[in-house]
Amino acid sequence: MAAKPVSVLITGANRGLGLEMVKQMVESPRPLRKLFACCRDPDGPRAEALQTLAKKHPDIISIIRLDASDLCSIKQCAQQVGSLLGMAGLNLLINNAGILAKATLQETTTEDMQSSFNTNVMGPMYIFKEFLPHLRAAAKASGMSGMSTSKAAVVNISSTLGSMEFVKHSYVSFPAVAYRISKAGLNMLTLCAAEELQKDEILFSLLHPGWVRTDMGGKDGEIDAPESVQGMFRVMASLTEKKNGAFLDYKGDTVPW
Ligand code: NAP
Repeated sequence: MAAKPVSVLITGANRGLGLEMVKQMVESPRPLRKLFACCRDPDGPRAEALQTLAKKHPDIISIIRLDASDLCSIKQCAQQVGSLLGMAGLNLLINNAGILAKATLQETTTEDMQSSFNTNVMGPMYIFKEFLPHLRAAAKASGMSGMSTSKAAVVNISSTLGSMEFVKHSYVSFPAVAYRISKAGLNMLTLCAAEELQKDEILFSLLHPGWVRTDMGGKDGEIDAPESVQGMFRVMASLTEKKNGAFLDYKGDTVPW
């Protein structure tokens, strides 16, 4: 990676892919300066591994409460992060937090649809809006031309299950209707943001992490979190304005819409 982001925020950083992202970022030979590891219950038992990591890297990691389905908590988080960031702004925002409801169309409830939409679509939308001033500050402060994740970028973690073209091949084995619709919504949100924020030189991208052995992916997944995250970080480091609004997998291959 030629240049690295100085400041990064990751949602859902307490377990699964989010926790692995935090690990790899702080343990890299040239770690970043400031990492905001956000989770909805920083003091709870599910954040113990993150707390341990933060104790090892107190100058880099700040654990901040953020519930992606709660606008109040998003606003508070943006204020807290803003006070720690200063003029340099936030280089990279990774919307990783997500939930998966596995039901078929006939089983899907109103609650499945609402919670999936709140966490997987509205969450990233509000988070992006609240952090926009910090992303704009980073784009201005960078002095770099073009777009990159080391300048100012939002990476939204999506899924091939949100791809229209994949439905025929994957529906029967894995219906997850509310999840599919929410990730398709996230994809559209990201494309709209890419168009709207192009003039501010803030890059937007969608990444599919692969089928990963986490709580969400289950034990039958194809890869482990370290491989997925290594791949996604390679892809993130390669992103330029040419890939603004792209939907890529952890190997860098384009995912069909
Ligand atoms: P995971 O192991 O289930 O972890 C999900 C993370 O999201 C947890 O940290 C969880 O926090 C957090 N989260 C859920 N709802 C939240 C909310 N309202 N506010 C804040 N945080 C919340 O899942 P994962 O496999 O790491 O998945 C990470 C991302 O990759 C998701 O967006 C997922 O859709 C995507 N993805 C995963 C796979 C896969 O095979 N694993 C494939 C495609 C895409 P709590 O501990 O508080 O619940």
